[in-house]
Amino acid sequence: MEEKKIFVTKATLPPKEEFIQYVDKIWDSAWLTNMGEVHNRLEKRLSEFMDGVEVVLTVNGHLALELALQSLKIDGEVITTPFTFASTTHAIVRNGLKPVFCDIKEDDFTMDPEKIEKLITKDTKAILPVHVYGNVCDVEAIEKIAKKHNLYVLYDAAHTFGERYKGRSVADFGDMSIFSFHATKVFNTIEGGAVTLRDKERRKALDFLKNFGIADKENVPYVGSNAKMNEFAAAMGLCNMNHLSEYIAKRKKICERYIERLSDIKAVRLNKYGSDTEYNYAYFPIVVEDRDKLYDALAKENIFARKYFYPCTNAYECYKGRFDENLTPVALDISKKVLTLPIYPDLELDSVDRICDIIRRSL
Ligand SMILES: *Cc1c(COP(=O)(O)O)cnc(C)c1O
Repeated sequence: MEEKKIFVTKATLPPKEEFIQYVDKIWDSAWLTNMGEVHNRLEKRLSEFMDGVEVVLTVNGHLALELALQSLKIDGEVITTPFTFASTTHAIVRNGLKPVFCDIKEDDFTMDPEKIEKLITKDTKAILPVHVYGNVCDVEAIEKIAKKHNLYVLYDAAHTFGERYKGRSVADFGDMSIFSFHATKVFNTIEGGAVTLRDKERRKALDFLKNFGIADKENVPYVGSNAKMNEFAAAMGLCNMNHLSEYIAKRKKICERYIERLSDIKAVRLNKYGSDTEYNYAYFPIVVEDRDKLYDALAKENIFARKYFYPCTNAYECYKGRFDENLTPVALDISKKVLTLPIYPDLELDSVDRICDIIRRSL
């Protein structure tokens, strides 16, 4: 029997009728974008959800990151991680800044704070860590270093929507955080993203930056971009917010099943989960020696895991000759051994069991 294809992720959709109700309203208003009523309602809803932080919605997470960096008006170097999606590094480079790569921790794959300080030079202006896979960075240690050296901290929180750390929204750490609401993420607005922050002045700048830098009809104080979220995307967000806790609860069950079925396999190293974090279970990474063999064994059975993140961004072809991936040996090593397994709310537990059986056999 041909088993149906299982991919690493699948977009989470609310009941269609809920979305249609918004479509009817948008149709009647004929207001499709440019900070419409639905957009503004979603900003408010997300702000309340995330402990009252300022929320600036954007067309995607990448432009949220580019504009957040631009709003800092800095030049020079940004300390970041190579163990991330292309977006993080590209946003730094596209802002005319120089990424300086810090290695990661072996157990949760986030930036290793013990390796930050020796990378700081007179040109360092900011730190841009990633809460990778939903693992919250060592925010206390990073904050301490940033304060001591007077650096901005901007978190790429694309993987952590909905999480809390020590009871506080993950959106509330550092100077700013950015989120992605892409179709493949825990919470989606089809395409979308947001910058979260506490600084009301900078919030205003970001509102202008996402709309060509226009402040009002006759004043254009910034060289902005076009990163506005449209009304249909915002409507998808409002619908998905109504079901977020249900989505996360289902993900948690799947994650627990994986842990139950894989934790006795010596050749599989699991993600480290800490008791201070309320997770969103965005990804399920495992680390194995012969990753490519396992990837192929799963693919042969119509299960498409993902080599995420491989390669590290400092090994990308477009950066050839500019960075040395050997300077971040832990990230390099993990990138060759990591595999993220399928996880999405309606993935059946039987499928999880089947995936685990294949892993057990293959190793
Ligand atoms: C998804 C993602 C982004 C980019 O978000 P988009 O909404 O796809 O533009 C940035 N950083 C990380 C770590 C991501 O996973």
